[in-house]
Amino acid sequence: ARRFFVGGNWKMNGDFASVDGIVAFLNQSCDSKAVDVVVAPPAPYLAYVKEKLKCGGVQVAAQNSYKVAKGAFTGEISPAMLRDLGINWVILGHSERRHVFGESDALIADKTVHALESGVNVVFCIGEKLEEREAGQTKEVNFRQLQSVVDRNIDWSRVVIAYEPVWAIGTGKTASPEQAQEVHEWIRQFLQDKVGLDVAATTRIIYGGSVTADNCVELAKKPDIDGFLVGGASLKPDFVKIVNARD
Ligand code: 13P
Repeated sequence: ARRFFVGGNWKMNGDFASVDGIVAFLNQSCDSKAVDVVVAPPAPYLAYVKEKLKCGGVQVAAQNSYKVAKGAFTGEISPAMLRDLGINWVILGHSERRHVFGESDALIADKTVHALESGVNVVFCIGEKLEEREAGQTKEVNFRQLQSVVDRNIDWSRVVIAYEPVWAIGTGKTASPEQAQEVHEWIRQFLQDKVGLDVAATTRIIYGGSVTADNCVELAKKPDIDGFLVGGASLKPDFVKIVNARD
């Protein structure tokens, strides 16, 4: 069975006071041994959060990293630096990176390959926009985004795929359990066809987009939903309920 995985993507939110509050509720609920929990603070707080977290089970992720180890790339962060901080996860391909910052499939694939080669595990995000769904392109958009890393022959055991339909992110319009399951099943079939049966059976495919304490339990019942990537609700104590959605 695939181990349940819940990520908290804090995006560009917080200050020391609110970070202390989040760490406090995480530290009070350390006992979810059956779940991988990974929280992604903004870069300036990575080392602080890593130091303050007392739960061995809660890991820290960066929200982005660049495609090379060092050099003249003002403003960027390398996976080598994350490793130096003891951080082993990064979120790549998030829809805000794709659509607000214009990152291409090719750049995201380069970043993914480099992070994995540097020893950093990847939450690889994909998802269609509303107009793409309405135009019947959901499958093709998600497959195209996935194909960019399938082409690169990566270590899938260190990748978690996050399906985050853009229309569901931060909108309160969660995909229904049926809508999410449908796409997760397509993604797993795509992995089976393009990579292999074993990778398809073992890779976690998590859902993101307006996940809350109220809707997580029904979503978590679906056979191909292996966890969540949570934005807004990861800043609140409700995050713990989402971590425990399978209990
Ligand atoms: P929300 O949970 O705020 O919709 O954000 C989802 C997301 O983008 C997580 O990466």
